[in-house]
Amino acid sequence: MKTNPQRTIAELKELRELTADENGAQRVAFTSTWAKARAWLRRKFEELPAEIHTDEAGNLWITLRGESEKALLIGGHIDSVPNGGWLDGSLDTLAGLEILRRLNAQYNGKPPVTVRLVDWADEEGARFGKSLFGSSACSGHLDLEEARALKDKDGITLLAALEQNGIDFEKVPECRKELANAAAYLELHIEQGPVLLDLDRPLGTVLGTFGVERHAITFHGQGAHAGATPMNKRKDAFLAAAKMSPEIYRITDRNGGPSRTGGVCTIGSCTTKPGIVTSVVEECRLTLDQRHLDAAALARMLIEAKAASERFAREGNVTVSWDRIWQIEPILFHADLIALCDEAISETGAIPHRLPSGPLHDASEIARFGIPTVMMFVQSLHGISHNKIEDTKEEHLESAVTAFDKLAEKAMKWIIDNGVA
Ligand SMILES: [Zn+2]
Repeated sequence: MKTNPQRTIAELKELRELTADENGAQRVAFTSTWAKARAWLRRKFEELPAEIHTDEAGNLWITLRGESEKALLIGGHIDSVPNGGWLDGSLDTLAGLEILRRLNAQYNGKPPVTVRLVDWADEEGARFGKSLFGSSACSGHLDLEEARALKDKDGITLLAALEQNGIDFEKVPECRKELANAAAYLELHIEQGPVLLDLDRPLGTVLGTFGVERHAITFHGQGAHAGATPMNKRKDAFLAAAKMSPEIYRITDRNGGPSRTGGVCTIGSCTTKPGIVTSVVEECRLTLDQRHLDAAALARMLIEAKAASERFAREGNVTVSWDRIWQIEPILFHADLIALCDEAISETGAIPHRLPSGPLHDASEIARFGIPTVMMFVQSLHGISHNKIEDTKEEHLESAVTAFDKLAEKAMKWIIDNGVA
């Protein structure tokens, strides 16, 4: 028995028709358009003889009970950023649905292991600024106090938005029980970057998600009159800060180089005080975002950036201070499932390519919780996502559904063979 990838593409278009406007997808979580998308998805689920329920965090689950209680989970998210694309998250969910249909037909409604598809709530965090709400609630990583304080740009709290959608914030942590029998977790996603496109490969196996170090670096000098202060008498905070810009390129070169699995560093913002045309910069604040799949390399990149900032500060007769904004460790996917993902891709006639994921995904939360996890990527045209021009060739979408289905079958066998079931 086979999946019908053409049906997945047709359903993706149906969803786009229902929830996009001229600027792109508008399925922002906990809004009426998202609720409409959810109702549409639920109707699709109801075509199957399976259990459907929404958990305490608003994640929508469909469960096909198998011979074993141990479950293979397939995840996706139907929510989008404002003016988003038609594939981000929806492809995962609708490919998952297609796999459930195939399993239901092939195994007469009872596959060897239980198979569950979950549509995570608020993966994007577009409205309240905090992504992976539903999956982090399940994994126990959701910071409840932080979530309690979140508001959207109109001052509406997350709690109020949840209540409008029938979700009681106080009960959110109870959704953790959903992962009780999970034996493996799979997620298909568009790459959202240019790596597979550049290599001309339709599909990739994701090794894990980058660890992130995010810091504010502040150089402190002395404001002085732009006309009256000789160049050799200045304590110019900007001069020291500016040297960090070429330095982060040297740091990434030393730690993985320009290779596609290497790290990345970004100075995303720079603000100066007093910030006027007639004064030497007294204070310059940079933000630095460093990402790497290898924890040791990530740690080295941070040490090297700190050492460089201190050297530049000394050279310029200024001082420097660092504040951590956020951090997460690299999250590695499961070696066996990575191998199975390669196999599944090869069986469609494509050459698999292994790559890390720059963005975090719901899969990161589930892997972090300790459930064997892997993701499959499909090539993104233009290497662009979170934008209405987000796109993937239809032939690649078809291969993605086929390969992902093969991976699901292999993962099911893996669960049984390993006695996890
Ligand atoms: Zn996504």
